[in-house]
Amino acid sequence: MCPFHPFLAFGVKTMNPVRVRFAPSPTGFLHVGNARTALFNWLFARQHNGRFILRIEDTDVERSFSAFEEQLIMDLKWLGLEWDEGPETEGEFGPYRQSLRLLTYRDYTRRLLEKKAAYHCFCSSEDLEREKNTAVSEGRMPLYSGRCLKLDPKESAARIAGGEEAAVRLKTPECGELSFDDDVRGTVSFDLSLVGDPVIVRSNGHPAYNFAVVIDDHCMNISHVIRGEDHISNMPRQILVYKALSLPLPRFAHLSMVMGEDNTRLSKRHGATSVRQFDDDGILSSALANYLALLGWSPPEDREVLSLEEMVPLFNLKKVSRSAAIFDYKKLHWLNRQHLKRQPVEQLARAAFPFLKDEGILPADMTPDLWAWLEKAVGILIEKVDRLSDLSPHFAALFEYSPEKLDGEAREILSSDCARKVLFSVHEELKTLEKVDFAAFGILTKKVKEQTGCKGKELFHPLRVALTARTSGLDLDKFIPLVEEGAELSFPAPLKNCRSRVSEILNYLGETGSR
Ligand code: GLU
Repeated sequence: MCPFHPFLAFGVKTMNPVRVRFAPSPTGFLHVGNARTALFNWLFARQHNGRFILRIEDTDVERSFSAFEEQLIMDLKWLGLEWDEGPETEGEFGPYRQSLRLLTYRDYTRRLLEKKAAYHCFCSSEDLEREKNTAVSEGRMPLYSGRCLKLDPKESAARIAGGEEAAVRLKTPECGELSFDDDVRGTVSFDLSLVGDPVIVRSNGHPAYNFAVVIDDHCMNISHVIRGEDHISNMPRQILVYKALSLPLPRFAHLSMVMGEDNTRLSKRHGATSVRQFDDDGILSSALANYLALLGWSPPEDREVLSLEEMVPLFNLKKVSRSAAIFDYKKLHWLNRQHLKRQPVEQLARAAFPFLKDEGILPADMTPDLWAWLEKAVGILIEKVDRLSDLSPHFAALFEYSPEKLDGEAREILSSDCARKVLFSVHEELKTLEKVDFAAFGILTKKVKEQTGCKGKELFHPLRVALTARTSGLDLDKFIPLVEEGAELSFPAPLKNCRSRVSEILNYLGETGSR
């Protein structure tokens, strides 16, 4: 027999305007699963002309670090998910960091104690451990026995007045069912006989997550709580706090977990998992945001390549899938390639610069001439890669020119009669050119063809090997202007122009007797 408990009858607020929040705990780097939660909240707020709030949940003092918070803030900004209220911007419902809101929690705790909806618990951790072990050995759920609930209130008050440390527990119904409507998962129900009286304030005075989150969502006028499905199990405790304080509930939407391809939760084992790592790996923020949106949501008409702005009108929280989202790195790389193609070269050059600087290809102090060259080079080479971090070898290939490292195929090409004639002729003709741009090179190859009688492969293969010391690579119409213009600039390692390349290979072949 389960007596009626007033907590079990409750309403949900119908709220306008939309106010949503992302509430990370600064206990680690921003995981892509959490970044997706932030993104869905952001999209939902923007779509409804609502407010997106960032709240730092740092009441777990042992595990929260300001360095993680700083990084988190940088990562959200990098993704383009700027908040309307929160750290830095502030707002009328602040402060937006839980460690600065302790007085508010204290006030709500007092109200609960006064209403006798909560009580002090003096049990030591050893007592609780013992109780738990007994329950487990007897095959019962390890729920709090309610021992301190039975204390005489006068005794309890005297112990507190005497300075004894105590936690605060919420009094909960012993049985019954609790359900709520989730915008992603539909109706979700819980058996209250499986929920013990939860600690809402620890004996050190810090609020428990399930308490602070309710107070904050209420005080910040949150209309929709959109977060990871790992919080579903917290729902009964949170709903019971709302009810104990007679507060209306916001709407809830719990997003499925992000899994690796083997259906286990996405972790380091699968590859990069934090937003920072993806940036370090050369994924553009627009591509990562685009990919995260596709984890559980399918845009209409199969439009997959989308910027944040393009996603705003299309996003539909009600269409977000409740099945687990599988993180597919290949798909992310494909999307990144599409986003790379959409970027203006100036931005691509800025984004590529740190990778090329770290590889020692570009100097730290870039001149306007170097930037102009970089834009041209990135504009050409970007089509060869999925990620900015993959650009370095393509740049390095422009700088490396080592006839002594020619491979067998290249040597074979240079060993023909035609090759010898072509190289000599090119060498002589290059001396006559003032500027070796591609147009001039075209005229030069015509002359070489006339002089040597070599054409087609016999002409162009030796030319390619002579200029690049390789048998494949960029088309020469792109390669020649890049090395010619680059040769005038100062890079950490010099870029050789066509003339010196041809001289060098002739010298090398002469010295080694290869011709
Ligand atoms: N601070 C919680 C977390 O980082 C989120 C709480 C919530 O969204 O309700 O998992």
